[in-house]
Amino acid sequence: MLIVILLLIISVSTAAAQEFSVINNLENQNVGFCAYDAATNTVKFSPYVDSVNTCGVWFNFGVTGYRRDTVLTFKTLFAKTVHSPFFPTISNDNIDFQHVRQSGISGGFILRITPTADTTYISTGFPYTYSRLQILLSEIKNSKYLQIDTLLSTANNLNVNQLTITKKPKRKHKKLVWIICRQHAFESVGSYVMEGMIRYLMSESCNQKLLKTHIFKIVPMVDVESVYNGQSGRMQLPVDFNRDWGGIPFHPAIRRIEQSIRESAQNYSYSMFWDVHGMFPGGFEGNSFSYYDLYGNGKKHSNLVNFWHRFARQSGFTPKSVKDSFNSYDGMTADWWNEINYGSTLQFSTTIEVDWNLNSRGVPYSIEDYLEIGKWIVKSLE
Ligand SMILES: [Zn+2]
Repeated sequence: MLIVILLLIISVSTAAAQEFSVINNLENQNVGFCAYDAATNTVKFSPYVDSVNTCGVWFNFGVTGYRRDTVLTFKTLFAKTVHSPFFPTISNDNIDFQHVRQSGISGGFILRITPTADTTYISTGFPYTYSRLQILLSEIKNSKYLQIDTLLSTANNLNVNQLTITKKPKRKHKKLVWIICRQHAFESVGSYVMEGMIRYLMSESCNQKLLKTHIFKIVPMVDVESVYNGQSGRMQLPVDFNRDWGGIPFHPAIRRIEQSIRESAQNYSYSMFWDVHGMFPGGFEGNSFSYYDLYGNGKKHSNLVNFWHRFARQSGFTPKSVKDSFNSYDGMTADWWNEINYGSTLQFSTTIEVDWNLNSRGVPYSIEDYLEIGKWIVKSLE
């Protein structure tokens, strides 16, 4: 006991002797203003905002040199409530992140924690980095059912990868399913659903019949630069990735994906398009995992509703339909572009919105939940 107390005293005095500092050399980091008040042990911060990062949703940084003898408070003001997460995540090692309920949503963002280590990392939600995706791809790259192509390399040498997953790719009558994710860089939760889909498709338990009858074309991370640089991406200037479809797209990645969709649609029976997103972390869509219904009533509406009913029955997660209508005032979205160009063969084209807050059991979504959701979406095809 004496040793423990001595150790505590040493660690407290060491911590007190350290200068407060911000750790801002992380991949996918974002912090703009950041100041520390030792008297109240409070970190005041705001996300970095510029023309690509207009929303300021995403923050991700670490702090060290704060007091360990009292509560540590994080505080900021956000322009819009929907940008402030109900359940930000914290970590002591920048690897394992935990959800923490924040308590000041109406007047901005206030998070109080009892510090358990000398360093605390804080983020809008579970980060999902470009490097994590590359690790996943190197793990699965030798599968005989997978082909990985580089659609595009950016000026900073980041790759926009395309995965083709199937058995016997030469069979022409196969059903083609297109899936893309991270058109909006801050929507990290979508990437876990995407990873769940990929992991299931690559697993032993994946119904082998599915890979014989279907071909999956997947672009798991579209706006790689903004993800890498910790930018929010959504509503970026001059044009949001998901308002850049049709015409001649501004973003090279969108041009390449459109081209790849056109080529694959000639060779296979184009059946479904899924665009995986995450909603604003402070917005509530009924605390559920949601999808957009583009069609109102009719055959495609039934296809879409039946698909999600099947998903709900099997998975236990409750999805919710959100009505959407075509608008062109701020540009064409991916799901509309696919519907307009391939509506005659598509069963449906949809945007899948992943929530950040509470799951169907009333507890905050875990990474495992997101991976499970991805698995069950694919299983709904079986
Ligand atoms: Zn989005």
